[in-house]
Parts: sequence; structure tokens; C-alpha cells
Amino acid sequence: MEITLNEVKRREKGLKIINQKIKNDGVDSLIDLTGLAGGFDLTPEDISLLETYAGPAVFDEKIQELGREHLGGEKILPLNRTTSGIVGMIIALVKPGTKIVHYLAKKPGHPSIPRTAKLVGADYVEYTNLDDFKIDDNTSLVVITGTTMDLEVISVDDFKTVIDQAKAKNIPVFVDDASGARIRRAVYDQPRAIDLGADLSVTSTDKLMEGPRGGLMAGSTELIDQIKLVVNQYGLEGQAPLVAGMIKGLEKYSPDRIKEAFKQKDELYQKLQDKGLNPQTTPTGFMFKEDEIKNEVDKRTSTGDVSADVVATVYSMLLIDNYNIITIPAVGMPGASKTVRIDWSAKDSEKLSMDELVDAIVDTFDKVASVFSSDSVEQVLYE
Ligand SMILES: *Cc1c(COP(=O)(O)O)cnc(C)c1O
Repeated sequence: MEITLNEVKRREKGLKIINQKIKNDGVDSLIDLTGLAGGFDLTPEDISLLETYAGPAVFDEKIQELGREHLGGEKILPLNRTTSGIVGMIIALVKPGTKIVHYLAKKPGHPSIPRTAKLVGADYVEYTNLDDFKIDDNTSLVVITGTTMDLEVISVDDFKTVIDQAKAKNIPVFVDDASGARIRRAVYDQPRAIDLGADLSVTSTDKLMEGPRGGLMAGSTELIDQIKLVVNQYGLEGQAPLVAGMIKGLEKYSPDRIKEAFKQKDELYQKLQDKGLNPQTTPTGFMFKEDEIKNEVDKRTSTGDVSADVVATVYSMLLIDNYNIITIPAVGMPGASKTVRIDWSAKDSEKLSMDELVDAIVDTFDKVASVFSSDSVEQVLYE
């Protein structure tokens, strides 16, 4: 059976299922456990401000205050996405022919970093081991990822070692703290990246907080101004409506939910293991990587040489269709990871018990197996 993943079509199908559920049962029937739930909690007063030129002025003052509290630093730059911030920062700071050195807990780093390195004609190298880590003389930027896309965290000691080495050579340090600004701090009690000595840090305002998808960068006034110029030239900045939503997300943010999920996730993990499953834990939940999903389905029926990303996407699609539970493989952007990750700190986790979730997870493996036995994979993914 030759089946390839059409990323555009499978996302359209995922969104179609969601739209149908909203029409039939209302938006509250959905259970979003992606940890990217978003939030856009504007009041009529915010909206009337947005209709005037006064809006951006009012929101800028507030985002400076709340952003500095969340990230540290002297000045805050709101961005359309974290990716936009990474792109603008590299264009502003990295010259052609120089090198970007990246330290992170586990490869790979976010694809926007190597892509922009290529765009500006810089070399790029990733290290996950301090013994190998090396800052060559032609290095123009050191990047640290606080918490990777699969939520692997680096230690404070490693953070400090890398920052010290960069400082010794007078090279700016940028921290990609997309979810780290909350995971690192709430779960591991780590300091803010800027307080650890980083020059710049960026976070995603929809990750583990109830804000809209957007990016927030912090650093010294001098560096932020330099980056802001590029960001404005390329149209990467966060517009006033987005900034208004970020303000509400930051005002509402509390680490309590993340801390609670961190404590509960072991119980959840145990329940899954008791059912014979083999998940991996994350700081606030668990995940099944695509290979493990294929593995688990193969115990029930052979998926043959169908690739693991297809099997994982079928899984995610059936989890929405049968249980209203949203995970990334069905609805994420083309190219997004096909790991099925459950964030138990997501607000919607209140809508079901641990046992209900575990039953849904187990039953969905059985359902994926039936889809493969009955040759209806393409129907599930695209029709
Ligand atoms: C999510 C994430 C990004 C990018 O965020 P976008 O909102 O997609 O731009 C960058 N780096 C890391 C480590 C991330 O987890």
C-alpha cells in the first residue's frame, strides 16, 4: 500500500472535522490538549481602543511592563510569531560568512534558525554536549534553546557555562525560550534567561499560557532597537490587536496549572503503562512519537511499509473524530512534528478525567488498527 502524507489536505480534513463539531455541539465540546490553546480575551473597551490611533500607544506601554516582568530585560518587542523574532534577530545581528553556534538539550533546534542562517549566508552548527561545544572566532551569535519543541530542558549549569564562554568572546547570546520561559521557570525553578546573563530572549505567547499565537522578545534597549528596525522593515512586528491579546494572556498567566500537571503526569504515565502502552513523559504530560505509534498499532495489525508519520496522523485524526481531543499531527502546520503530545496543563484537561483520557488513548490505537485492516487510511486522512 503506497500512501504518502499530503500535509495540506490532511490539515484541511482536520480543520473540517473541528468545524463540523463546532457547528453540531459548540466550541466547548472540543478538548484541546495541544498546549497551544491560544486565547484572545478582549473586552469591548479594548476593542474600542483598537478602533483609534490611541490603541497602539496604550497597549505598548502595558506590554512593556508585563513583558519585562515575564522575561526581564530593558525593552520588549512584540512579534507576529516567535519565528518572526528569530528571523528578524538573525538578519539584524549575523553577517554573511560568520557562524551561528547553537546549544540545546536535544536536536533539532527550531527550523527557523538554520533556515535564516542560510538566508543570510552564515554557517550553522548545533551542539547537545558541552564536551564538544566550541565557539569559533568567526562566530557572530550564540543561540541557546531553553526548552526544545519536545520540551527537553537544559540545566542552569549548562546555561551558565555556554553564556560564560560567549561573554569571554564578546558574542551576543540569544535564548529561544518559546515554551521555556514558562516550563523552565514553573517546573524547574530556573531563572529568566536574561537573569542568567543572556542578551536576548524570545517566547511564544500561546505556549502554556492563554494568549494568541505571537512572539515576545526581550533584551537591552540597544539590541532591541537594532532588531526592531529590521522587524519593521520586513513587516514582522506584532500588530496592535495581537498585542492586546498578549496583554490579557500575560495578565492571566499563573504557573500553578503547569506545576499541578507536573505533579500529576506520573500518575497518568502509570495508568498508560498499566494498559501495556509505552509513552514518554514530558514535563506536563506525555507523548507518543510517530515510531512508537506505528509500533503499537503493529501489535494489533500490520501497517506494512506505511510510514510512521501517516500512522501517527491517522491516530490524531481519529482522536479528534471520536473523542473531540485535539493533538498536533492532524491540525498542525505542514511540516509540524507528528508526535502525539498531550499537555495535561492545558485548560481543557478539566473537561475529562485521567481515566477517560487513558481509555480514549487506548481505544484510538484499536481504531487505527481497524482502519488499516479495512484499507480506509486515505478516507480517514483526506475525505
Ligand atoms: C514553538 C517554537 C518556536 C516557534 O514558534 P512559532 O509560534 O511557531 O513561531 C520556536 N522555537 C521553539 C523551541 C518552539 O518550541
